Amino acid sequence: MIRPRVGVSSCLLGEPVRFNGGHSRDRFLTDVLGPYVDWVPICPEMEAGLGAPRETLRLETSPTGPRLMTRTTRIDLTDRMTALARERAAGLLPDGYVFKAGSPSCGIRGIPLHRTGGGPPANRRNRGLFADGIINALPLLPVEDDGRLNDALLRESFVERVFAHARLRELLDAEWRPGDLVAFHTRHKMQILAHDPGLYRQAGQIVACAGSRTRPRHELVDAYAGAFCRALARKASPGRNVNVLHHCMGMLDLDPVRRADLLKVIDSYKAGLVPLSVPATLVRHHANGQNAEYARTQTFFAPYPEALRLRNHTPAGR
Ligand code: SF4
Repeated sequence: MIRPRVGVSSCLLGEPVRFNGGHSRDRFLTDVLGPYVDWVPICPEMEAGLGAPRETLRLETSPTGPRLMTRTTRIDLTDRMTALARERAAGLLPDGYVFKAGSPSCGIRGIPLHRTGGGPPANRRNRGLFADGIINALPLLPVEDDGRLNDALLRESFVERVFAHARLRELLDAEWRPGDLVAFHTRHKMQILAHDPGLYRQAGQIVACAGSRTRPRHELVDAYAGAFCRALARKASPGRNVNVLHHCMGMLDLDPVRRADLLKVIDSYKAGLVPLSVPATLVRHHANGQNAEYARTQTFFAPYPEALRLRNHTPAGR
């Protein structure tokens, strides 16, 4: 399986780059996800020339927008950090990014904006400056922070998006022909449908025109990548997963006993009694047994390496 390239705040991998000389090692990232991805660790504050340990930073109000300032010595790092983000976004081309929560450089939400003159923060709705630059430059990139990755559903969803992004990148980096894009879309149909039926239809319409010369190739790529990535960014609800399972079941030739058994397992998933891995494994098992090509090659059944075991939580447990 492909190895996605994932940007990550260096401190999350255990590098001693925090302001106090310590780190924030995250064991899910280093021990569980690490063996399946290629990390691109970045500590923007170190790259901006600050050492470790160092003075702490904060976002402050200004007439031109948030500024990144050292707390005591009052050095303004805004322009340096903005340029660094632009440079890294242009050269990195990752499949995802895990940022450190709560940092005025790396945080992706809830960062306080302090009033320059003192007093309580003006608001707590900001991104860290470096993260903001990366996200603005790469709006389709799957991003999360270490705090949110403690949630089983968000964790699974992020990893699923990262691997899907990597497969799309692999396709588009190669000398692809319209038939390759059609084949890619065909393998991902059920996965897209589980996330967003509207964008599933839109992506299908885009691919249907792949062979015609009416649309410039770069426009076709932008349109498809946009629909694909936006679809996967939507939550795959239990209801939509059930719809996909029924859809795939309809492609199988099952006797009445096996059919009733499978329906019962799907209902148990719908009721929150078993995780998605249970009916999905059963459908795939039948598809493999019957050599049902379309169903068994759907990425819905293997969106990321199985050993990650991220589908083992029940909908009720969410
Ligand atoms: S949060 Fe970002 S800036 Fe802070 S130590 Fe970690 S990688 Fe460096």
